Amino acid sequence: MSAVLKNIGIIGAGQMGCGIAHVSAAAGYKVHIYDLSQDRIESGLATINGNFARQVTNGKMTDEERSAALSRITGSADVNDLAPSDLVIEAATEDENVKRKIYTQVCPVLKPEAILATNTSSLSITRLAAATDRPERFMGIHFMNPVPVMKLVELVRGIATEETTFSAAREFVASLEKTVTVAEDFPAFIVNRILLPMINEAIYTLYEGVGTVDAIDTAMKLGANHPMGPLQLADFIGLDTCLSIMQVLHDGLADSKYRPCPLLVKYVEAGWLGRKSGRGFYDYRGETPVPTR
Ligand code: NAD
Repeated sequence: MSAVLKNIGIIGAGQMGCGIAHVSAAAGYKVHIYDLSQDRIESGLATINGNFARQVTNGKMTDEERSAALSRITGSADVNDLAPSDLVIEAATEDENVKRKIYTQVCPVLKPEAILATNTSSLSITRLAAATDRPERFMGIHFMNPVPVMKLVELVRGIATEETTFSAAREFVASLEKTVTVAEDFPAFIVNRILLPMINEAIYTLYEGVGTVDAIDTAMKLGANHPMGPLQLADFIGLDTCLSIMQVLHDGLADSKYRPCPLLVKYVEAGWLGRKSGRGFYDYRGETPVPTR
């Protein structure tokens, strides 16, 4: 465990917030999750519970370790409960206005020395930092999905991030047994700068009728040895998140090669956001996923 950080606050009980809570509690930290409603907290805690249970079944942890880790996690819809946190990781919806509003509410509650980090996939760390009262204690700690499985964490400094903040974050990530890669503060950092244009291109390939959902995913799995097809991966990430990242790349780098595919926009407008909403490029409401095109 980190020598300086004991209490971890998480903002957002979605896919990523729950994953970060999971690995932090498993590493011995006390974790508090904050989200907009008690319902979201409950469903997040249920997800974490299920994921721990699966790890016990797979022999990755004992039942005692599971209940000890679970007992370290609390959650509430009251922002004041984040007050004891030494490190707060914001993993709310990928929308700059949402994140800015959150910082306005959360900063007055936090201890002056607390570090605030964002799990943003693409937004400018320096710009987000400027919306806080502590740019020198603000940075990007970008986990990959699913957090308990993926080994990498990208660390991103804003222009004002102090070295002590960066080294505390590095030590925290190492204590979770993840590997750090350092990215500069440019749109979408390293992983998503490379990954999302590929996913967007796969959606254009579908949009232009070059192949079906099944053909495109099979082609990339068997033809490029990817463990998951790009459309399946898009559904896994969340199509709203994919669209936000493409928009950040498009706006931030001003190059037409990052234009979000109109079909991606249409799916998001329909509320077909991938696995988390039950439908995306596949329909997940039955026993096995069925392509929607
Ligand atoms: P999600 O949609 O699963 O969860 C977002 C959560 O934020 C929801 O529970 C929502 O209720 C909550 N939220 C929204 N507004 C809030 C507010 N004002 N206060 C408190 N909570 C609020 O999204 P996700 O996939 O978990 O993504 C969260 C963040 O992590 C985003 O910044 C995203 O870019 C980043 N990220 C996502 C992935 C991925 O593959 N999905 C990977 C790495 C990073």
